Amino acid sequence: MHWSLAIAEEIVKRRKVNKHVVATGITPSGDIHVGNLREIIIGDTVHSALVDMGVDARLIYVGDTFDPLRRRYTFLPTEYETHVGKPLSEIPDPYGCHSSYADHFLQPFLDSLDKMGIEIEIFKADELYKSGLYADEIKEAILRRDDLERILKEVSGRQMPGDWSPFSPLCDACGRITSAIVKDYDMAKEEVSYECECGNTGVASFKGGGKLAWRVDWAARWKILGVTIEPFGKDHAAPGGSFDSGKRISTEIYNYEAPYPIPFEHILLKTKEEGTKAKIASMSSSRGTNIPVHTILETVPPEILKHVISRVKPDKHIAFNPSLPLLNLIDEYEREIGEIGHGVAGKIPFRHLLTLVQVARGDFPKLLEVTKRSGYAVSETEEELKELQKKARYAENWLRVYAPPSLKFELQEELPMQELQSLSSGQKVALTLMAREVEGGTNLSASEWHDKIYELATAANIETKEIFQGIYMALLKKPSGPRAGWLLASLDAEFLGKRFEAAGSEIKS
Ligand SMILES: [Zn+2]
Ligand SMILES: [Zn+2]
Repeated sequence: MHWSLAIAEEIVKRRKVNKHVVATGITPSGDIHVGNLREIIIGDTVHSALVDMGVDARLIYVGDTFDPLRRRYTFLPTEYETHVGKPLSEIPDPYGCHSSYADHFLQPFLDSLDKMGIEIEIFKADELYKSGLYADEIKEAILRRDDLERILKEVSGRQMPGDWSPFSPLCDACGRITSAIVKDYDMAKEEVSYECECGNTGVASFKGGGKLAWRVDWAARWKILGVTIEPFGKDHAAPGGSFDSGKRISTEIYNYEAPYPIPFEHILLKTKEEGTKAKIASMSSSRGTNIPVHTILETVPPEILKHVISRVKPDKHIAFNPSLPLLNLIDEYEREIGEIGHGVAGKIPFRHLLTLVQVARGDFPKLLEVTKRSGYAVSETEEELKELQKKARYAENWLRVYAPPSLKFELQEELPMQELQSLSSGQKVALTLMAREVEGGTNLSASEWHDKIYELATAANIETKEIFQGIYMALLKKPSGPRAGWLLASLDAEFLGKRFEAAGSEIKS
């Protein structure tokens, strides 16, 4: 049984509600990366399991757009120092292309979710606050300030300062949401008066004039949106952590049962250069070990990215290695789960496509030719061509960004004379015999070549590894390469005949 089904069954048994709400949420303070994606994939998978069981359920995502900018990250220009402390929704886009800082990082992520076919209702925290949805919970929090202070102390051991308020006003002079102190409140007018570090005094409305402290905000949000299930990083689940305090605030202050928690382990980025030891690091923007979701989706089909994450139970960490291990996962997916792409694109295994695109060198008409030559039936409808182009782009990008050197090759236009000097006479005999096979101008299929290579090695009285080496040398100017059958079947018979004839003949230095 898939883990998501087990969780869904457990939830339905434990909590009887008319409608389940699976909530996810990420702060868009920088590129939203593959590590962040786990929360959404877990939510989506559990949501799908519930729906499959016939349970009424929604999947929602709240972008924490009203959170302050914590510090000037290294990718920000120096003048962004002045924006530290302001809500992300109120800061201009540092790249100038979106309506706010928050949107700049949120939008590509939302587009990625769309690409992955994840249907999710989107909320932005700043809009929730501005629309007044939080007003009642803000009132309750301000009235029960002392209880909140006590709960936070009991759960986390942290003593809040005497002037602490669960509500952080947004200063209308300096724009920060982190520096004003609440002086008084007026429940009828739904506002607080405040004094800011910048010297300003003013009033802040419960409808967008500030936000709840994050541990209080989380619990308030559960009630406001009717959240019954929430996946979150395991750090929040630590004893005394934000889930513990959220649970108590939810029941004791808001009279609402906290959601069923699904804590999950991190995704670690594993990189390994050939011939070196693997390096593992948690995904972090500041250490450069972060892969934004929209970037990885240029190199990996969306169903694969989902598979990489959903195949692992939430309580196990994932060591994400986008190089060879990812390719192996793609093989596994295509073997056991389904085709990637429709029409002919789905019929060509990704690994095979890596050979075809390298033979075609980024030229699409050439790729079509190579594909047909390799034995695939292409109907050439617009839809089919588009699908092939899309999958080919993934293959090309993956090769460029993540492929180890051993998987890359360049078909040699000219006979690599120098390198061929090193071939043995047996290898040359074998190559001459290979040339005979395509003499009539008809190429063999990949599996025919595969059998033929073994046969010709025996005929030339050499080891199979030697014949492979001869083939790769003659075509790629290196001793190894992709599956030889695939490579040979993708090439023009006449070209192969000439190349092997020349490589097998006496070479004068
Ligand atoms: Zn932008
Ligand atoms: Zn101020």
